[in-house]
Amino acid sequence: MENRGVAVKRRTFLGGIALGGLAAVTGCANRRAKPRPSLANARVVVLGGGYAGATAARQLKRIDPTLKVTLIERNRYYLSCPGSNEVIASLRRSKDLRHDYKALIQRHAIDFIAAEATAVDVPGRTVRFADGSKVPYDRLILAPGIDFRWDAIQGYDEAASLLAPHAWKAGPQTALLRRRLRGMPNGGVVVIVVPDNPYRCPTAPYERASLMAYFLSRYKPRSKVLVLDAKAEFVEQGLFQQGWRELYPGMVEWLSCRREGSLRRVDAAQRVVHTEFGRHRADLLNVIPPQQAGRLAQLAGLSDASGWCPVDPRSFESTLAPGVHVIGDACAAEPMPKSAFAANAQAKVCAAAVVALLADREVGIPALSDQCYSFLSPDEAISSSGVYTYSANEKRLVATSSGETPRNGDRRREARLARDWELLFTRDVFG
Ligand SMILES: Cc1cc2nc3c(=O)[nH]c(=O)nc-3n(C[C@H](O)[C@H](O)[C@H](O)COP(=O)(O)OP(=O)(O)OC[C@H]3O[C@@H](n4cnc5c(N)ncnc54)[C@H](O)[C@@H]3O)c2cc1C
Repeated sequence: MENRGVAVKRRTFLGGIALGGLAAVTGCANRRAKPRPSLANARVVVLGGGYAGATAARQLKRIDPTLKVTLIERNRYYLSCPGSNEVIASLRRSKDLRHDYKALIQRHAIDFIAAEATAVDVPGRTVRFADGSKVPYDRLILAPGIDFRWDAIQGYDEAASLLAPHAWKAGPQTALLRRRLRGMPNGGVVVIVVPDNPYRCPTAPYERASLMAYFLSRYKPRSKVLVLDAKAEFVEQGLFQQGWRELYPGMVEWLSCRREGSLRRVDAAQRVVHTEFGRHRADLLNVIPPQQAGRLAQLAGLSDASGWCPVDPRSFESTLAPGVHVIGDACAAEPMPKSAFAANAQAKVCAAAVVALLADREVGIPALSDQCYSFLSPDEAISSSGVYTYSANEKRLVATSSGETPRNGDRRREARLARDWELLFTRDVFG
């Protein structure tokens, strides 16, 4: 059973570096370990059935089928953000984003609670619901994703997001932005407002600008896409800008905070953005607001002043609450980006660590990776990748290597790889 407050000790093993790669790694760690106590009565609760939580639940059962794993998720099916930019550009259907939990929960005998959790009682080791019921845990893996900082931009709150959609969580907002793009006049201007780092999926605003430009170049060719960025530079900037020049000449303009100064206010009803040095009127306004860890993490006191949840990256255990692990977009795991790929890798490392801690064994040094594909058009994509490990000196994750599509790389091949990745990845997460 669980040993509360076990300090994370070090032993070298490889973490979840590639899809399917971890099972062998975990097996290897288990073979070298002392005979482990039965975990049959240990209860692990996973809260949030997104890329992070669904992977963690599945991985726990793969490592030890005797564990009692409960997955709590407010929705009966999951709506994926990866792919949602293609839906907005009318290249895919909304239903392509939908994944159900049937295969995951049936094949792996995971208890599924379809309800919104309202609180975590850290000292009492329980998750609570609005009707007063509770679910106890020995270890909790929290993966609630993000929520928006509605107080961060003057004039942009939840009500304003119905006038100027963010579409940064998949669902009705995605459908709204798609409808607005289709209804925009030829010759109109789309303005995309992009926040400063860190936020969910650093490349996705620029993929969105690319795919919107693709749609407009076909159906409303006199239109423009203006990207108003709170940053002075962005990931894969050279590759995106090269793609915009080659595929959509004169259609996409990127304005950095160096030129515009800071964002002052948004008038969602009039679709006007006021910056320090200018004013931009949009026919279609897409505001991506600054973000923070999902609300439940905030309520449970798991986030710090940054709004994200600090963790020990060897186990993803919260540094603020023993027994609680935080993975995916909600955790602060820089320099890893907040992506589905990263969430999946973190979940695998975390699941292995949770099993080790429950069995009173040492936790290893993780190796994590991420790879992010972005479509420039339906047939062309670019990608970037990174490999990360734990630095004992710095007590945090560090990048050991990184790469991106070369300037003269084969973007069509990247698009084919992106489609293959999505297929394999979805299977890896949802079964
Ligand atoms: C437009 C866009 C495109 C993207 N494209 C890519 C891409 O191509 N590749 C990539 O790797 N990443 C991509 N991402 C990023 C990716 O979507 C996120 O990094 C990923 O979803 C993070 O997974 P998560 O499990 O941490 O959070 P989420 O996917 O948000 O899952 C959190 C889950 O927790 C549930 N939940 C939250 N609170 C509660 C509660 N109190 N009770 C019950 N359930 C709760 C939610 O319902 C949700 O299902 C993209 C993001 C966007 C916005």
